Amino acid sequence: MKTFTHATQDTNAERYEIDTYPSASSVLQNSSMPPAPLLPEKAFRSHAPGYWKDANVREEDWNSAQWQLKNRVTTLEGLEKHLVLSQEERAGVLLSGNKLGMAITPHFFNLIHPTDPDCPIRRQVVPRIEETFEDPDEMADPCGEDSHMPVPGLVHRYPDRVLFLVTDRCASYCRYCTRSRVVSGVGEQELHTEFEAAFRYLEKHTEVRDVLLSGGDALLFSDSKLEGILKRLRAIPHIEFIRIGSRIPIFLPQRITPQLCEMLAKYHPLWMSVHTNHPRELTTEVKVALERLANHGIPLGNQSVLLRGVNDDAAVMKSLVQKLLMCRVRPYYLYQCDLIQGSSHLRASVSKGVDIIEQLRGHTTGYAVPQFVIDAPGGGGKVPVNPDYVMLKDEQRVLIRNYEGKVFEYPEPSFQPVELAV
Ligand code: SF4
Repeated sequence: MKTFTHATQDTNAERYEIDTYPSASSVLQNSSMPPAPLLPEKAFRSHAPGYWKDANVREEDWNSAQWQLKNRVTTLEGLEKHLVLSQEERAGVLLSGNKLGMAITPHFFNLIHPTDPDCPIRRQVVPRIEETFEDPDEMADPCGEDSHMPVPGLVHRYPDRVLFLVTDRCASYCRYCTRSRVVSGVGEQELHTEFEAAFRYLEKHTEVRDVLLSGGDALLFSDSKLEGILKRLRAIPHIEFIRIGSRIPIFLPQRITPQLCEMLAKYHPLWMSVHTNHPRELTTEVKVALERLANHGIPLGNQSVLLRGVNDDAAVMKSLVQKLLMCRVRPYYLYQCDLIQGSSHLRASVSKGVDIIEQLRGHTTGYAVPQFVIDAPGGGGKVPVNPDYVMLKDEQRVLIRNYEGKVFEYPEPSFQPVELAV
């Protein structure tokens, strides 16, 4: 099968081949150690050119972000060229298009199973009729961002940091997007970010030390446009810390070029929060992109959304968080899915999220365990939700249980100051 070299501009570009990893059975046969449990989709794979194998795409085109964006799957015909759709999906594509647009990059599309509507990748990006169902608990703006916007496009909800919505476009669209009211440009609201007014607000508000660029996806901008924003922010002395929230390293790893990374590295401290939900999303191309960002000194964290039928399974999450560490990404947050309109088919229960954290904590590397949070509906901010490890607490002691269920007592300090007889 034809393979593509990712990131042609790297002098040390590696050639990744499909299925180059040893089979699980050969590893088990050759090992004298007790076999570790096999986790789902733990290997890094390239799926290129996949569905495009008969299209004779040139390697340099496949590896170009522009080609990937131009060839996104955006129509029912485009989906049906490769996938057998269920009735729910077909109706979803036809009826949900005025809420959130559909777009899937060829790179990400290749991860979708052709016939299984329950494929965890498919559930994230292919619309379903359930998106048109109305649940009275759901909201257009579940995090209350619009009511905390002093300037169009700038959300100031926490004391020392702001969310700067710089665009409403993404490389592909997630069906559970918290900002589906504005993202993709087809919903009821439009985003009209006032950049100059936002910069002036930030210059005046000396309490703001942390700016998160999001949207939409800021990495869709050209290098020069993005650099213009970063340069302007860096000229504000009290802004200590800049973050970019992006799903582009996952949807469009071809965008993470050496030139982009060199430009970003001029604006340190600059951190990036990526967004991935399922271990299959961590392909060889994505790993190269994430490593390139890390090699340019950009600390990486991951935000996942707990989604029914995608990652509401401890083994799947364990595989994801372990793969993230291998890509030098620290799992940061696991979000309870916000109460977005038309998301009830994708929302898992809070107790499922707690259960997953319980099955990670102590059972794998501490760095791999994200913080499970609920973004309090209506704008209350992120609230951590944890398994209950403290069984009893009084002035003398704390009774705790560990990850194996064993109970321990920790005595509180009984320090009394010594009275010196002088
Ligand atoms: S990448 Fe982020 S902003 Fe864009 S659709 Fe997905 S969740 Fe929404």
